[in-house]
Amino acid sequence: MGKSKDWHRDTALIRSGINRTGYQETSEALFMTSGYVYETAEQAAAAFRGETGNFVYSRYGNPTLLALEQRLAKLEGSEACRVCSTGMAAIFASMACQLSAGDRVVASRALFGACHAILTKILPRWGVEVELLDGRDLNAWKEALAQPAKLVFFETPSNPVLHLVDIEAVSALAHAVGAKVIVDNVFATPLYQSPLALGADIVTYSTTKHIDGHGRLLGGAVLGKTTFIEEVFLPFYRQTGAAMSAFNAWVMLKSLETLALRVEMQTKTAKQLTENIKHHPAVLSLSYPGDRSHPQHELASRQMSGSSTLIAFEVMGGKTGAFQFLNALRLIDISNNLGDSKTLACHPSSTTHMNLSEDERQALEINEGHIRLSVGLEHADDLTADIQQALDVCRGF
Ligand SMILES: *Cc1c(COP(=O)(O)O)cnc(C)c1O
Repeated sequence: MGKSKDWHRDTALIRSGINRTGYQETSEALFMTSGYVYETAEQAAAAFRGETGNFVYSRYGNPTLLALEQRLAKLEGSEACRVCSTGMAAIFASMACQLSAGDRVVASRALFGACHAILTKILPRWGVEVELLDGRDLNAWKEALAQPAKLVFFETPSNPVLHLVDIEAVSALAHAVGAKVIVDNVFATPLYQSPLALGADIVTYSTTKHIDGHGRLLGGAVLGKTTFIEEVFLPFYRQTGAAMSAFNAWVMLKSLETLALRVEMQTKTAKQLTENIKHHPAVLSLSYPGDRSHPQHELASRQMSGSSTLIAFEVMGGKTGAFQFLNALRLIDISNNLGDSKTLACHPSSTTHMNLSEDERQALEINEGHIRLSVGLEHADDLTADIQQALDVCRGF
């Protein structure tokens, strides 16, 4: 066995972060413990002063979480990682740990619903100025980043219609005015896009999605430089309680072992479905970064090493057509989750993005007829047949 720093990704997904106990277990140990004990009162005091490296309380750290953090850091190519109870806990803590009243945040408008709420409803109450823009438009970034900002935040590809942001170009603009860049990398997964290598400072995940991959658990992760994680993130995280449960971390460690197998298969099926349905008469438009018709296909090829397990398409008949399509599905489930081994379809404008105003939805190009499909691990022919028969139902418009 070579040195862990030389391991290929597929080896790191199985073996990074393993630190066996004296029992020499094969599978990673699950440490369901809130606290830790000390031999002496002196040792406890030294541990609290941070001098011994002991775990002191699972809100601060836990060996099972540490194994997951080391494996995720290796996969991302980052110096450090901390895992959180949910994706939103990870995103919120990564912002709140470094923002103060009077700071300015610039973000792409195409965001997960809860991220949009943090930026437009919560942070402004605390005196943080937030500017949202069209993340696809480099000129908009240039204009917004002509003045100083503390943070830049975006998601690429974005939920639900898969718009992209040029990570390298925006990071350069942000750094020129002293802003740190946080990228929500859920849709790309750590397999297909490495924002840190392209200049971003911090990467966040909802590990609820492809990393768990079986629709069981909630979780999140924050990755970046050791100086950021230790000096800026940890003081906030330790006191405010965003830690992941050890059980969830243990399940996610096992899930990582099959992440590449699952995501590569799901992507292959998503590509095939894109080909099979894009010419169906009931499909008005389709957005898939790996398809030549995607307006940012060139950027996708440049900054992503793979495409997506998600497809967005617009069916005939607006909301009525979209509801008829969803209700006609026999195999695929109606659900707003994603990254699951089961294929799931949802209607963003009445569910995940219902809290946006009509103007905001229009600015994001989310139409009433849009369906977001998260492709799972079922056979491509069964999925194609199900989608085709449901599309035939809304063809009458
Ligand atoms: C799901 C999701 C989140 C939020 O993650 P939770 O685990 O649900 O808290 C944030 N960003 C994106 C892009 C997501 O898909």
